[in-house]
Amino acid sequence: MSHFVDIILPLPLDNRFTYSISKDEANFLQAGMRVAVPFGKSKVYTGIIAEVHNRAPEVYEAKPISQILDEIPLVTAQQLKFWSWIASYYMCTEGEVMRAALPGAFILESESIVQLQKEAEIIESELKDDEFLVVEALQNQSSLKIKEVEALLDRKSVLPVLNRLMAKDIVILSQEIYEQYKPKRVKYIKLHENHESEDAMHQLLDELSRAHKQREVVLNYFSLKAKNTKPISAKELQKLAGVTSSTLKSLVKKNIFKEYYITEDRVSFDGEITRKHIEFNEYQLKAFGQIKASFEEKTVCLLHGVTSSGKTEIYLKLIEEVLNEGKQALYLLPEIALTTQLINRLQAYFGDKVLVFHSKYSMNERVEVYQNVLNAGDDPKVVIGARSAIFLPFQKLGLIIVDEEHEATFKQYDPAPRYHARDAAVVLANFFEAKTLMGSATPSLESYFNAAHNKYGFAELSRRFGNVLMPEIEIVDIKEKHRKKRMTGHFSDRLLKEIEESLAEGEQIILFQNRRGFSPILECNTCGHSPQCPNCDVSLTYHSHSNQLRCHYCGYHIAMQQRCMACHSDDISTKGFGTEQIETELKALFPKHKIGRMDQDTTRGKHGYEKIITAFEDLEIDILVGTQMLTKGLDFRNVNLVGVMNADNLLNFPDFRAHERSFQLMLQVAGRAGRTKKRGKVLIQSYNPHHQIIQQVSTNDYAGMYKEQLQERYNYKYPPYFRLVRLSLKSRDFSKTNEAADWIAKAMQNVFKQHVLGPEFPPVARIRNEYYKNIMLKIPQNQSLGKTKSVLKKILISFNAISAYRSVRVIVNVDPV
Ligand code: ADP
Ligand code: ZN
Ligand code: ZN
Repeated sequence: MSHFVDIILPLPLDNRFTYSISKDEANFLQAGMRVAVPFGKSKVYTGIIAEVHNRAPEVYEAKPISQILDEIPLVTAQQLKFWSWIASYYMCTEGEVMRAALPGAFILESESIVQLQKEAEIIESELKDDEFLVVEALQNQSSLKIKEVEALLDRKSVLPVLNRLMAKDIVILSQEIYEQYKPKRVKYIKLHENHESEDAMHQLLDELSRAHKQREVVLNYFSLKAKNTKPISAKELQKLAGVTSSTLKSLVKKNIFKEYYITEDRVSFDGEITRKHIEFNEYQLKAFGQIKASFEEKTVCLLHGVTSSGKTEIYLKLIEEVLNEGKQALYLLPEIALTTQLINRLQAYFGDKVLVFHSKYSMNERVEVYQNVLNAGDDPKVVIGARSAIFLPFQKLGLIIVDEEHEATFKQYDPAPRYHARDAAVVLANFFEAKTLMGSATPSLESYFNAAHNKYGFAELSRRFGNVLMPEIEIVDIKEKHRKKRMTGHFSDRLLKEIEESLAEGEQIILFQNRRGFSPILECNTCGHSPQCPNCDVSLTYHSHSNQLRCHYCGYHIAMQQRCMACHSDDISTKGFGTEQIETELKALFPKHKIGRMDQDTTRGKHGYEKIITAFEDLEIDILVGTQMLTKGLDFRNVNLVGVMNADNLLNFPDFRAHERSFQLMLQVAGRAGRTKKRGKVLIQSYNPHHQIIQQVSTNDYAGMYKEQLQERYNYKYPPYFRLVRLSLKSRDFSKTNEAADWIAKAMQNVFKQHVLGPEFPPVARIRNEYYKNIMLKIPQNQSLGKTKSVLKKILISFNAISAYRSVRVIVNVDPV
């Protein structure tokens, strides 16, 4: 009997590939282990075994695997099942899911290696100088990397030499797989045995009486040793003694100290548990009871709790119960809400049982969290992470919390898999017969709909913790204010007065402006021209800080212009406004106060976001201006006033979810006001103060918003009544994109009739010189999702076979947000 394995490769291939293995290998190998396999002409890839079996492939000859990379499975059976669900639901390949699911370090990369041909006949006199050098080196060591050949010959282009040697059949190029993950080894210092006695110690200090620095190190070592029994790291000792590593080295050389190494987790917690008890108030008690009761019958529950009502405390209690049962818990958050504030809060209660999985972590840190979850054994932990944490190798998962479940950032946009972590979490939980709790102050219509129709359980918290009142919301009609000349820049007299009062009280202020940059566009008052990006169909944005015009899509930028680029008039001005302009105006209005700004431009880098939050918490900033980054679950103690600079550009966004989103955003920013004793105040500036959404925000009327928006969704055939699949076509050729879109739309219309919308140009139809066109498919509730997708897939397969459209890429997005 022959033996085979089916392999998932980290590539966008529709199928698994079958490789042959020996009988012994078949006894050893299991699904979930990694193997290196040859693929294509000369590549070697890391693949995951999906199945070990005896069925020879019908259409091709199975090649043997190259190498076994694991002794035990790295990927669990549940993960494989989950990957396959994601691939089929979100219409992508298992290989794409694999890429998203595993830290890069697990997917080994291949690199070219030069080796001597075994039976090579080498006639030295026929070799050129550089060829000789390479051959000589290879006679001394069995292989060289391309990089090493470059160093050897001291030049960058070594391929010609290698090509000559290959032509002479002297060397071969092969691919070798190497492991990238490196465990972190920390250097520790201890005293050499010779000096351990009291006498020896005194003698040592005497000896060093002239070497001040070295003596300092030794003294510090003793005082550390006296304080605790923990090993002393080289870094710690250096820092304490204020010396460099060379001082330490010379002490090691003198045999006074010894170095040793310990392999450590990068993600370890050595703080203390500072919180032992959670005492619920009556509302939390009731909501907690509702959740537990709903879990008796249903697998998912929605917790609708106003901002600062104590939802997080309820999560903590539920997580604690699950950990006590010996199961793991997953706490999912939108990336941006994953702050040290929250991590500290969890660690204060659960100590080292908290694992954090963050996309800003280094690859090695992610590998460690992965291993930690995989090997949890009898020490289950709670993992807190953003959307990709659903791909961790859980063993015994008991609970998933999806906090801020309404957030669109749970959906991955690019690349595939374009999954929604909230929805996928429900499926994942079901694999483990675990429960899912979704929480939000402003639930998505979809989740609220599911709760209203008894698909999900439901619990509510309608009061803030500690009887703090919900903030008072006031709407300011800025059209009226403009007419009466009561505007200073973008500030109404009302807003300015409230800001002044808050500052006088020593309180902090948050101002929300949903656009970054200084002002979106520069416009000529003579001819109306505004500078455009040459690569994208958008106007360039003015950034005062760098005095540039920039494209937010491709990064193109030019210097700020003094004259119109079309008619050369110097009568040009900026239209619209962003965070930067608000910041500038504030600096002029309140020169004695510190103004901070939080948007994509100021939060770059690993700790950029953290830094601004910490500065604000430490009262180093009086007024913080920001985009929607400000809305996410932050708990600031000293903020009582929140201003929304302009509600209208949220409401006017061309998207069927714009109204729901605006409601959520405004209520969430409003929620940052008055979280402690004093009642907070929120001012919303708008040109349309009577807009129903603004009215609903001002009265905290979620139910009203839900009812009205749901009716619209029903009328216009949108979720939750219809499911959506969006196809985006793109290519560098405008007419090819158009023709291809027409072809696909027509094929779809033949089957799905009026439920196909488009093809249509998106609001920005050209990005980086690629032309985009969209087609939307609406799927009624009574139509089989599986069948619909398989029809769509067939259409796409036929499309891909048309050579004229080869340059057009089709991106499929299931449940776009
Ligand atoms: P939410 O998650 O709904 O925004 P939080 O859980 O952050 O609300 O609670 C708001 C504030 O009230 C936090 O500072 C929290 O520490 C406090 N709080 C909530 N519930 C309790 C409780 N049962 N005991 C003590 N403090 C609580
Ligand atoms: Zn002009
Ligand atoms: Zn551009």
